[in-house]
Amino acid sequence: MSEVHRDDTHVSHYLCIGCPLGCRLEVEEEDGEIVEIRGQSCKRGEVFARQEHTDPRRVVTTTVAVDGGRWPRLPVKTAGDVPKGAVVDVCRLLHGLRLEAPVAIGQLIAADALGTGVDVVASRDLPRK
Ligand code: SF4
Repeated sequence: MSEVHRDDTHVSHYLCIGCPLGCRLEVEEEDGEIVEIRGQSCKRGEVFARQEHTDPRRVVTTTVAVDGGRWPRLPVKTAGDVPKGAVVDVCRLLHGLRLEAPVAIGQLIAADALGTGVDVVASRDLPRK
C-alpha cells in the first residue's frame, strides 16, 4: 500500500516479517530516494523495509512429486531468497518435476531455478517405501 502527498513525498507501508511483533513500517520517498524509514523497533526492520521497497525477495517452500517413496511428495525450499516476482514461476517449475526416491536432505533438486542464481534443495530425507 502506498500514498502520494501534495509535497511530492510518497509513503509506502509494509508489515515487517522479521519477528512475531509485526511492526508496521513506513518508507518515505522523495524524488525516487528513500528519505526516512519509520515504525521499526529494531535495525532488522529498517533493513527489511529498504529491501522490501527496492527489491522484495522471498524464500520459496513447496513440495515436489516423488515416485517410489515412503510419501508421495517431498518438501523443498530455495537455498536463498528469490525475487518476489519469480515466486509463482519457481513454484510452477517445481510442481512440474517428478523425482525418484530415495532423496536426501539438502540434495539439489533444481540448480539456478529459472536463472535466479538460487538452487532448490530437499528439506528432508525421503526414503524408498
Ligand atoms: S522491526 Fe524488529 S521488532 Fe519489529 S517486527 Fe521487525 S524484526 Fe521484529
